[in-house]
Amino acid sequence: MTELAVNGGSQVWSGGWPAWPSQTPATTENVLRCLASHRWAISGPRLEDPGFEERFAQKFADFLGLEYCVPTANGSSGLVIALEALDIGIGDEVIVPGLTWVASASTVMAVNALPVVVDVDGRTMCIDPEAVRAAIGPRTRAVNVVHLYNNVCDLTALRELCRRHGLALIEDCAQAHGAAWEGRKVGGWGDIGAFSMQQTKLLTAGEGGAATTRDEALYRRMYQLRSDGRSRVQVPRPGEMELSMLGEVMGSNYCMSELSAAVLLAQLQELPRQNTHRAANAQRLDALLEQLPGVAPVQALPQVTERTHYYYTFRIDPAAFADHTAPTIAAALRAETGAQFHPVYPPLSRHPLLRPGSKRRYQGIQNLRSMEKAHLPEAERAHRECVTLHHSALLAEPERMQVIADAIEKVQRHADRLVAIPDSGRSPL
Ligand SMILES: *Cc1c(COP(=O)(O)O)cnc(C)c1O
Repeated sequence: MTELAVNGGSQVWSGGWPAWPSQTPATTENVLRCLASHRWAISGPRLEDPGFEERFAQKFADFLGLEYCVPTANGSSGLVIALEALDIGIGDEVIVPGLTWVASASTVMAVNALPVVVDVDGRTMCIDPEAVRAAIGPRTRAVNVVHLYNNVCDLTALRELCRRHGLALIEDCAQAHGAAWEGRKVGGWGDIGAFSMQQTKLLTAGEGGAATTRDEALYRRMYQLRSDGRSRVQVPRPGEMELSMLGEVMGSNYCMSELSAAVLLAQLQELPRQNTHRAANAQRLDALLEQLPGVAPVQALPQVTERTHYYYTFRIDPAAFADHTAPTIAAALRAETGAQFHPVYPPLSRHPLLRPGSKRRYQGIQNLRSMEKAHLPEAERAHRECVTLHHSALLAEPERMQVIADAIEKVQRHADRLVAIPDSGRSPL
C-alpha cells in the first residue's frame, strides 16, 4: 500500500466494478422477440402489435413527462434534427458551451451554422447564462445547452434569456436521463431535448438517441427529418408499410433499429432504480470526500430536484496534490482502483477532435476560426482541477465508496511521486 499502483505498487482495490451496460433477462427476451418477428426496422411491414420503436418512444416520453419523442440512430443525429427542425442553417449562429463532447459543435457545423463557444459556470461546469447573454448577436438563432456529467444547467435563467431574445433553446440531455429541475425532468424545458443512448450513457443500446418536444409541429418535422421525409400513417394496418411518403421537409435516414429499441425498452425499466442507487452512492461519496483536504465534490444548483450521475465529479486543489493536475490524478486513481476515472473534456477551443479545417464541407461557414479564440477560463480551470468517475462505479455496493475515498487519500499522500501526464488537449492554433 505504500507505493502508488501507477508506479508499480499494489492497488487499493482489485476486485472489479459492476459491468456496464447492465444485461438483463428482459433485454435478451426483447431482442429474441424482435429477431423472431422479422421486423428489424420501422421500414418493415407493420405487425399486429405496435413495434418496439413506437413503444419505446411512448414509454420514454411518459418517463420524461412530455408529449413527443422521436428515436434516432444516435445522439448526434438527434441534435441534427433538432437544429433542422428549427430551420437553422447557413449564416446562423448557435451558442454552445466550451466544456462538452465535440458533437455540440460538430452537429451545428453539420447544418452549416457557426457554433459560438462560450464559457461555463465554475460551480456546475454547465454553460454560464451570463456568458450566453454576452455572446448574443444579430445572427444568433439558438442556444444549445448541455446538462454535463452530474449537473443541470440553470434552466430558469436560460429559458428567460432565450424568451427575451427570441432564441430557440435546445437541451442536450445526452448525460442526464431522468435529471429534474424544479420537479420537472430535463428534455422538456427547452424547445427540443436531445438524448444519446450510446454505450457509456445512463440509458443505452450501444448506439441510439432521441429528440423530445412538447410542440406538435416540431415533432412532425423531426419525425420526417429522421425518416427521409416519411411519416407514420394515421392508422397502420398489419402487413402494410407503416411509413408513408409525406415529404413536407426533406430528411435523412437517422432511424433507430427495432433491435436497439427492443434493448432500450428493457433497459428503461432499470433506469429509475439505477438512478436512485447511483444517487445514494454519490451522496455517500460526497460525505467521504468532504473530509479530505483539497478535495471538493462538485455541487448541483439548489433547483436540481433529481440529480443524475453520468460521471460523478469532484474538484481537486493542485496545491494539495504536489501541484499535479486532474489528468495526472485521474490516471493514478484508475491504476489504484481499476475504476474509470478521467479528467473533464479539454476545452472546445482546443479540443483534439474539433478540426474544422480538415474537411472542405465546412468552408462555407464564415468565421469558424472564432471557435479557437473563445475565452474559456472556467473550462480551462475545470480541465486542470476536475476529476470524473464513470457511473458504473456508483452501481457498486455502498461499502465500495470507501475504496474510492481511500484511493484519493493514498494518491494525495504520495503525490510527490507522481509523474505528470501531458495535457490531452491540443494547443490553440
Ligand atoms: C454522447 C454525447 C453526444 C453524442 O451522442 P452520440 O450518441 O455519441 O452521437 C452529444 N452530446 C453530449 C453532451 C454527449 O455526451
